[in-house]
Order: sequence, then C-alpha cells, then structure tokens
Amino acid sequence: MKIGLIDVDGHHFPNLALMKIANYHKQQGNTVEWVNYFAKYDKVYQSKVFTFTQDIDSAIQANEIIKGGTGYKLYHDLFCDDTEPDYSLYPQYSAAYGFLTRGCVRNCTWCIVPEKEGSIRAYRDIETVLQGRKAAIVMDNNVLASAHGLQQLEKIADLKCKVDFNQGLDSRLVTDEIAKLLSRIKWIRFIRFACDTTSAVSPLLSALEKLNKYGVKNYRIFVYLLVKDVTEANERCKILKKLGVNPFAQTYRDYDNNILPTDEQKRFAWYVNQKMVFKATEWEEYKR
Ligand code: SF4
Repeated sequence: MKIGLIDVDGHHFPNLALMKIANYHKQQGNTVEWVNYFAKYDKVYQSKVFTFTQDIDSAIQANEIIKGGTGYKLYHDLFCDDTEPDYSLYPQYSAAYGFLTRGCVRNCTWCIVPEKEGSIRAYRDIETVLQGRKAAIVMDNNVLASAHGLQQLEKIADLKCKVDFNQGLDSRLVTDEIAKLLSRIKWIRFIRFACDTTSAVSPLLSALEKLNKYGVKNYRIFVYLLVKDVTEANERCKILKKLGVNPFAQTYRDYDNNILPTDEQKRFAWYVNQKMVFKATEWEEYKR
C-alpha cells in the first residue's frame, strides 16, 4: 500500500500521531511519504492539532482519507498508539517526543484535556520515550499529579537526560520534596508552570520559593499566562516581572472559535512576548 501523510498545522513541532502511523505502516511493509498532491495514494492520514488554524484546501487523490487530531475535534485513541514514533519524518528535531502520563486530575473550564483524555493515568516509561536519545520533550498535562509520573521524574534525574515538560507543571503540587527532585533534573531550558488566574499566583510563588531554596534561579522559570481580562492579566504579569521569571502570554479562545481574542488581548500578548519591549516598558505606557 502507498500511504500519504499530511501535517496540516504543525510547522514548528513534530506530529507524534503521524510519526506513529508512519512507523506502523512501515512495519506492515507499506511505503509512507508526505503527500505529493500530484500523486495517488491508497490511504492518506491528515492530522490537525489546533482548531483555529487553516485547513488544507488542495485536492487529495486517495482511496481513503482519514482525519484526526484535536484540530478536527476528533479525540479517539490512535489505532497504533503502542507503536513507537518514526523520527525520520522530522530529521530537523533531535529530541524524543512523548508522554509519561495521560489525562489530568483538574477540571479547568477553558481546557479540553479532561474531556479528551479523562483522569490521570500512567502511560509510558521515560526510556521508552527516549529511544536512546539524550533529551525529551514531554507533553504531559499534569505529571506531578501521578505516582507513576513522580517515579519517572526520579528516573529522569538519575538518567541525567535533558527534559522539557512543555505543557507546564502544576505549581499547586510542588511540595518541598518535589522541589528538591525538580532541582536535580537537567532541564533543556526552562521549568514551566502556568499562572492562568489570580488564584494561581499564590501557589506559584510558593513553588518558586521552594525551588529557590534548592538552587533553582527564577530566570530558569517559564510561566504560561492566560489572557482574558487584560487588566487582571497585567497584574499577574507585573508580579512575575518583578521576580525575573519569563511569562508567556496566551490569548483566550474557545475550541469552537466562537470566542476570539480581542485586539486589546492580542496587543497585550504581543507586548509580553516581545521580551525587549516587555523588559523596557510597562503595559500602561506601551498601550498609550
Ligand atoms: S491543570 Fe492544565 S491540563 Fe489539567 S485541566 Fe487544568 S489546564 Fe487542563
């Protein structure tokens, strides 16, 4: 069989599902390639991660087209989820990609994870994810909420591989013991948290205090900052700025694209995310 793949919107990140599908079909003896719109395929897999990105509008010549991903609001488990990814699809990336746990114990109103993945559960071992690579981008939603996740963090520290939990850690779960464990890990660049509401500030500050105690400096901390009410988001941002951590503003939009970011929200996010501008000026001056 001739298999075609389309990564609709993942231009800065490898698509894990497509890498698994590629490996699965290669193991079946099928040929797998990125879709050439002039060629004909037995089967084409089309994956889209975000609901707000543009879909492709080119005609695809295939006997069967299978769409998948959050971008199409298709949340079913991947048929070949146990297959390891085929990294040859994305030779420009040297890290491994994967999950150690799936799901989350929380139920934040703006988040699709509880609906998509359910409660937290053990999923993989870090060595299975690494496949011999020296660094891993781990996409867990709440690794600190899982006993398996914590065991894996211990293993990561012992293996001395580099990691980035790119979805952020839950600051509410950072105890003294966990802060000590996090300080032993080799981070690719940042330890990431989220501070999406005013009520998230206090647990974040508490987590930072514990991490500082074990030698983690604030410039190694990256904080996702959800932007709904700009004045309120700016108050959170000022606290983070004073501490010397790195906020990253994300404007709110719902999954049906009914609520889109306002011009003010987009402008505030741009201000926060342009680090030179952010460091040089305050929002109140910038917005004038
Ligand atoms: S903690 Fe994170 S992953 Fe879990 S529901 Fe909230 S936003 Fe989603």
